[in-house]
Amino acid sequence: MFPWLTDYFSRFQQAYAQHKIPHALLLIGVDGVGKSALSEEISRLFLCEQSLHNQPCGVCHSCRLTQNKSHPDVHIYGADDARSIGVDVVRELNGMVTKSAQLGRGKVAIMHHAERMTESAANALLKTLEEPSGNTLIILMVDSSMKLLPTIVSRCQQWHIQPRQDIVLSWLANETNVSVIEPAILRVNHGSPLKALAYLEQKETPSHQVVAKALGQYFHEPWQIQLVAKTLSDGLPESIDWLMFILMDAMKLQQHVNIELLQFAHEQQLLKQLSKFAPDVLSDSITHLVEMRQSLAEMPSAIPAFLFAEWLEKFLSKE
Ligand SMILES: [Zn+2]
Repeated sequence: MFPWLTDYFSRFQQAYAQHKIPHALLLIGVDGVGKSALSEEISRLFLCEQSLHNQPCGVCHSCRLTQNKSHPDVHIYGADDARSIGVDVVRELNGMVTKSAQLGRGKVAIMHHAERMTESAANALLKTLEEPSGNTLIILMVDSSMKLLPTIVSRCQQWHIQPRQDIVLSWLANETNVSVIEPAILRVNHGSPLKALAYLEQKETPSHQVVAKALGQYFHEPWQIQLVAKTLSDGLPESIDWLMFILMDAMKLQQHVNIELLQFAHEQQLLKQLSKFAPDVLSDSITHLVEMRQSLAEMPSAIPAFLFAEWLEKFLSKE
């Protein structure tokens, strides 16, 4: 299991030890935070035939089946590619809850993307959540509880999965053999450890390095503006985030924040150069980037390289 999930799993182990397992759990967290992995580990312990010290034994029939993802009492709903979860799916879940467990220990219903339930599906689930069956654990997963009916949310025990940054950064460093991982990598991936890993494992140079290099090149060779603009537009959508992080770092540097604490601490030369601009030039530039992102989202005809060139030109004209 991923190291940042340990605390959450311990919470379940505690409930298990005290025979206070909730009927329904709502795991709330961004995509790629490990909700599926956590729900699998919980199922393993919940269904294990001979758990030891509140850990699944790993060798019993049930453990082997959960390991192979073929346990007849673990029911999964809400496929990644399904756009909505209809009432028929929830009726199937409700039917399963009333039946007895095939292996006798209990049953687990895991629903991915619970926010995709239609209104009638959610209402159908509500009844089951109101009158839970003793041996069924229902685990719902969402990226935000705002997207669920409040009546559903209130009938579940809510767990917000928010990994500790230091744990994730050292895990990422370990997985990728990169000695220092900048916190910005996690931020631009919306705090998702698994997405951050996929980002770092891309074959090409990571885009935050490309963006920093391109911007640095522009200050040395402003006549390369078209080339730099093209590089930035090739790096969309992240390149806008990276530019904002870099500019915000430069502003922090102006406020005498220790450079080692900045997201782009490894780009000291670039940050020092940027910090020579007036603070309002930097903040205007950030605002301009926000507007650019909006234009790109709303106007399919907008040419990104052209917008970046305009942004770069405006920037340097204020030196
Ligand atoms: Zn077992």
